[in-house]
Amino acid sequence: MLVSRGQQSTLLNRVKIEGRGLHTGAPVAVTVNPAPPDSGFVFSRTDLPGKPSLKACPERVSETSRSTTLEDANCRIGTVEHFLAAAAVAELDNLYIEVQGPEMPIMDGSSQPIFSELEKGGRKKQEAPRLWRKIEEPVFVREGFASLVVLPEERFRVTFVFIGPPPIGHQVVDRERDWEELLPARTFGWLEEARELREKGLARGGGEDCALIFSSGEAAPPYRLPDEPVSHKVLDLLGDLALYRPILGHFIAVRSGHSLNNKMARKLKEGEAGSNARKMFADN
Ligand SMILES: [Zn+2]
Repeated sequence: MLVSRGQQSTLLNRVKIEGRGLHTGAPVAVTVNPAPPDSGFVFSRTDLPGKPSLKACPERVSETSRSTTLEDANCRIGTVEHFLAAAAVAELDNLYIEVQGPEMPIMDGSSQPIFSELEKGGRKKQEAPRLWRKIEEPVFVREGFASLVVLPEERFRVTFVFIGPPPIGHQVVDRERDWEELLPARTFGWLEEARELREKGLARGGGEDCALIFSSGEAAPPYRLPDEPVSHKVLDLLGDLALYRPILGHFIAVRSGHSLNNKMARKLKEGEAGSNARKMFADN
């Protein structure tokens, strides 16, 4: 069911974010504007004629390999998850995001620089309740060796188990507050894989300045925070779930990624009508 807790928020002032696209390597400028209550996150491609826009929601996710892409008939925008994670941690609900290109800038591979820019804009409370989805029964999705379940809980909590090849190994995060501490966690990849992507003309904006790069058979590069890889997986989950709405529940993720995160967000959204109907039935 949906429960009201606090008020919705938007930015007080618009902010600008500049960086490079991970895949194109081209400079991309983003202007993040305040938006009215109940608008959610609306992306607009200001580099295209007519400046098409789309509202971020789980059903608009068209691609989940390595990053999350939103798409409808007129508009396509890639790598939205680190921005959405930053917006979720900043507790912003309504934003109008103008993007001068096909993908959000990768920055340093984390959500920290985006969060810092959003903070500069200040936060404005709006005259509308913030509606949370309260999980009443477990919801489970899986894909191969990856599983994601959400259990009833009075707050938002994430337990994430990530098992990577050496030198990453077995890493676990269990957290229910102080999400800002995870923001510096960078996306990660493998040197061998990065070379392969570049040969295919992808990840042109990628490199050691925007990702934690591992090389097989070698020691891990210095981490910014303990268990940086799994901390980044939690950021990805926050960003992918932000396509739905704030949630009161305990997520337990084992090896989850964008595809499974999106499956969960879709399932929760689809189940929303049913959960409200049950609530009405219980009230009578
Ligand atoms: Zn990521």
